[in-house]
Amino acid sequence: MRNKKISILYILTFLIISGCTDFFASLDKHKDWEVNEAGNIILHTRPQDFSNSQSPDENTIFTILKNQNFYYYLIRDSLKLGYSEKVLIYLFNHDEALEAIGTNTGGYSMSERSTIYYTYLLASYVDVYNRNAYIGCHEMAHLLTHRSLGNNYTRMMNDGYAVAISGSFGRTYDEIEERVVARTINEWMQFHSNNNNILTPEQLLNEPERPDDVFCPNAGAFISYLWQNYDIENVNKLFNVSSDEIISLFPTQFGKTFDEISDDYMKYLEETYSNE
Ligand SMILES: [Zn+2]
Repeated sequence: MRNKKISILYILTFLIISGCTDFFASLDKHKDWEVNEAGNIILHTRPQDFSNSQSPDENTIFTILKNQNFYYYLIRDSLKLGYSEKVLIYLFNHDEALEAIGTNTGGYSMSERSTIYYTYLLASYVDVYNRNAYIGCHEMAHLLTHRSLGNNYTRMMNDGYAVAISGSFGRTYDEIEERVVARTINEWMQFHSNNNNILTPEQLLNEPERPDDVFCPNAGAFISYLWQNYDIENVNKLFNVSSDEIISLFPTQFGKTFDEISDDYMKYLEETYSNE
């Protein structure tokens, strides 16, 4: 049953990705966008009364522009990417998003176009930087890393980078705060530790087909560990290469083999997330 579910998901993902270029090419022809620009972000939103779903109002547009600029500079500066091109964002109303971009629960980035396509979800959530987020940091991280570091990445590096810089993956309801918040890497890793779903670095390299909720937080935790313990520019060198090359680059970049750092990392996880 589980396998069937996964394979259907794969087919869908494949269709969405393989159809991307033509699919998205027709989108920009839609003229009905309200365009607001600030800093490095050019935000396209639907005008009021465009569809049955609410379009973002002036305050929301202001918040989104402020947040996306914050993420842009955070990613660029903390990852030392030295990037300065503008990013386009197309924010679709909820009732048109599924047909227009293939999802109405989030979105995608297309680095070739320096564009993020996303759903306007009405409710914001609190991210790890204590901001009221609508789009969040994840897609911005994909876009800037692809454009600065390259497109020949492994899933470990790609999602690891996006989750590590976001400090979180997905959202959860905080019963004490009584609102939706980002689900942090720490919360995920404690959860995965309790359920024996901790992945080793070797598994991260060799089993990219694992479901998102297992793979992404694990990749984010490992990349955060590398960032904390080694120079970020050395970690960046692993971004645009194959799994085999990653393994062979460890001694020159970090002074330790892949296996040695894997052992250190697994020990660190054991100490940090003792089974509850
Ligand atoms: Zn991702």
